[in-house]
Amino acid sequence: MTVINDKFTVNTQGSTDIIDITQKVKHAVYSHSIKDAVVHVYVAGSTVSITNIEFEPGLLVDLPEALDKIAPVNADYHHDATWHDGNGYAHVRASIVGNSTMVPLIDGALQLGQWQQIVLIDFDNKARTRAVYVQIVY
Ligand code: ZN
Repeated sequence: MTVINDKFTVNTQGSTDIIDITQKVKHAVYSHSIKDAVVHVYVAGSTVSITNIEFEPGLLVDLPEALDKIAPVNADYHHDATWHDGNGYAHVRASIVGNSTMVPLIDGALQLGQWQQIVLIDFDNKARTRAVYVQIVY
Protein backbone atom coordinates (compact mmCIF):
# COMPACT_ATOMS: atom_id res chain seq x y z
CA MET A 1 0.00 0.00 0.00
CA THR A 2 1.23 3.44 -0.90
CA VAL A 3 0.04 6.69 0.64
CA ILE A 4 0.53 10.11 -0.92
CA ASN A 5 -0.20 13.14 1.23
CA ASP A 6 -1.16 16.38 -0.43
CA LYS A 7 -2.50 19.55 1.15
CA PHE A 8 -3.88 22.99 0.30
CA THR A 9 -5.34 25.88 2.24
CA VAL A 10 -8.66 27.69 1.81
CA ASN A 11 -9.43 31.19 3.06
CA THR A 12 -13.03 31.55 4.21
CA GLN A 13 -15.36 34.25 5.47
CA GLY A 14 -16.90 31.98 8.13
CA SER A 15 -20.67 32.18 8.86
CA THR A 16 -21.57 29.06 6.82
CA ASP A 17 -19.37 30.07 3.88
CA ILE A 18 -19.67 27.32 1.22
CA ILE A 19 -16.63 27.04 -1.04
CA ASP A 20 -16.29 24.74 -4.06
CA ILE A 21 -12.94 22.97 -3.67
CA THR A 22 -13.46 20.42 -6.47
CA GLN A 23 -10.82 21.92 -8.77
CA LYS A 24 -8.26 22.09 -5.98
CA VAL A 25 -8.87 18.44 -5.14
CA LYS A 26 -8.63 17.43 -8.81
CA HIS A 27 -5.40 19.39 -9.18
CA ALA A 28 -3.92 17.69 -6.12
CA VAL A 29 -4.94 14.19 -7.27
CA TYR A 30 -4.22 14.45 -10.99
CA SER A 31 -0.74 15.94 -10.42
CA HIS A 32 0.37 12.47 -9.24
CA SER A 33 -0.76 10.59 -12.40
CA ILE A 34 -2.22 7.64 -10.46
CA LYS A 35 -4.72 5.24 -12.03
CA ASP A 36 -6.70 3.68 -9.18
CA ALA A 37 -6.87 4.84 -5.57
CA VAL A 38 -8.99 5.79 -2.62
CA VAL A 39 -8.96 9.56 -2.25
CA HIS A 40 -9.78 10.98 1.14
CA VAL A 41 -10.43 14.70 1.49
CA TYR A 42 -10.29 15.91 5.08
CA VAL A 43 -10.37 19.30 6.77
CA ALA A 44 -8.82 19.98 10.17
CA GLY A 45 -11.00 21.88 12.62
CA SER A 46 -14.14 21.49 14.74
CA THR A 47 -16.21 24.29 13.18
CA VAL A 48 -15.69 23.36 9.52
CA SER A 49 -16.98 20.59 7.26
CA ILE A 50 -16.40 18.89 3.96
CA THR A 51 -19.30 17.38 2.04
CA ASN A 52 -20.74 17.09 -1.46
CA ILE A 53 -23.38 19.26 -3.09
CA GLU A 54 -24.66 20.38 -6.44
CA PHE A 55 -23.02 23.78 -6.38
CA GLU A 56 -25.95 25.84 -7.66
CA PRO A 57 -27.56 28.97 -6.18
CA GLY A 58 -30.72 27.29 -4.86
CA LEU A 59 -28.90 24.66 -2.81
CA LEU A 60 -26.41 27.23 -1.55
CA VAL A 61 -29.43 28.77 0.21
CA ASP A 62 -31.33 25.54 0.97
CA LEU A 63 -28.51 23.85 2.89
CA PRO A 64 -27.82 26.79 5.25
CA GLU A 65 -31.58 27.16 5.80
CA ALA A 66 -31.88 23.48 6.73
CA LEU A 67 -28.91 23.70 9.10
CA ASP A 68 -30.34 26.84 10.66
CA LYS A 69 -33.40 24.82 11.71
CA ILE A 70 -31.21 22.15 13.33
CA ALA A 71 -28.63 24.43 14.97
CA PRO A 72 -29.76 28.10 14.86
CA VAL A 73 -27.04 30.72 15.26
CA ASN A 74 -28.83 32.52 18.08
CA ALA A 75 -29.94 29.55 20.18
CA ASP A 76 -28.41 28.92 23.62
CA TYR A 77 -25.49 26.50 23.61
CA HIS A 78 -23.70 24.94 26.57
CA HIS A 79 -20.46 25.36 24.61
CA ASP A 80 -20.94 29.13 24.56
CA ALA A 81 -21.78 29.21 28.26
CA THR A 82 -18.43 27.54 28.94
CA TRP A 83 -16.13 29.12 26.34
CA HIS A 84 -17.91 32.39 25.50
CA ASP A 85 -16.79 32.22 21.87
CA GLY A 86 -20.32 32.36 20.43
CA ASN A 87 -19.84 29.52 17.97
CA GLY A 88 -21.74 26.67 19.60
CA TYR A 89 -23.96 26.48 16.51
CA ALA A 90 -20.83 26.08 14.34
CA HIS A 91 -19.53 23.12 16.34
CA VAL A 92 -22.91 21.37 16.22
CA ARG A 93 -23.30 21.91 12.48
CA ALA A 94 -19.76 20.72 11.76
CA SER A 95 -20.31 17.54 13.80
CA ILE A 96 -23.50 16.75 11.92
CA VAL A 97 -22.17 17.41 8.42
CA GLY A 98 -18.77 15.78 9.03
CA ASN A 99 -15.24 16.73 8.11
CA SER A 100 -14.25 14.42 5.26
CA THR A 101 -15.39 12.77 2.08
CA MET A 102 -14.06 9.89 0.00
CA VAL A 103 -13.95 9.73 -3.79
CA PRO A 104 -12.83 6.65 -5.73
CA LEU A 105 -10.17 7.26 -8.38
CA ILE A 106 -10.76 4.78 -11.22
CA ASP A 107 -8.77 4.68 -14.44
CA GLY A 108 -7.27 8.05 -13.59
CA ALA A 109 -10.62 9.81 -13.05
CA LEU A 110 -12.27 10.88 -9.81
CA GLN A 111 -15.73 9.33 -9.80
CA LEU A 112 -17.80 12.43 -9.09
CA GLY A 113 -21.28 12.80 -10.51
CA GLN A 114 -21.87 15.42 -13.17
CA TRP A 115 -23.62 17.68 -10.67
CA GLN A 116 -21.64 16.65 -7.60
CA GLN A 117 -19.06 19.07 -6.27
CA ILE A 118 -16.85 18.81 -3.19
CA VAL A 119 -17.37 21.74 -0.86
CA LEU A 120 -15.80 23.09 2.29
CA ILE A 121 -18.29 24.78 4.62
CA ASP A 122 -16.87 27.07 7.27
CA PHE A 123 -19.42 27.54 10.05
CA ASP A 124 -17.24 29.55 12.42
CA ASN A 125 -18.23 33.09 13.36
CA LYS A 126 -15.13 34.69 11.85
CA ALA A 127 -12.89 34.44 8.78
CA ARG A 128 -10.49 31.49 8.90
CA THR A 129 -7.72 29.84 6.90
CA ARG A 130 -8.39 26.09 6.69
CA ALA A 131 -6.00 23.25 5.89
CA VAL A 132 -7.44 20.59 3.59
CA TYR A 133 -5.62 17.25 3.44
CA VAL A 134 -5.90 15.08 0.34
CA GLN A 135 -4.68 11.59 1.13
CA ILE A 136 -4.34 9.23 -1.84
CA VAL A 137 -4.16 5.54 -0.94
CA TYR A 138 -3.43 2.83 -3.48
ZN1 ZN B 1 -16.10 27.23 20.13
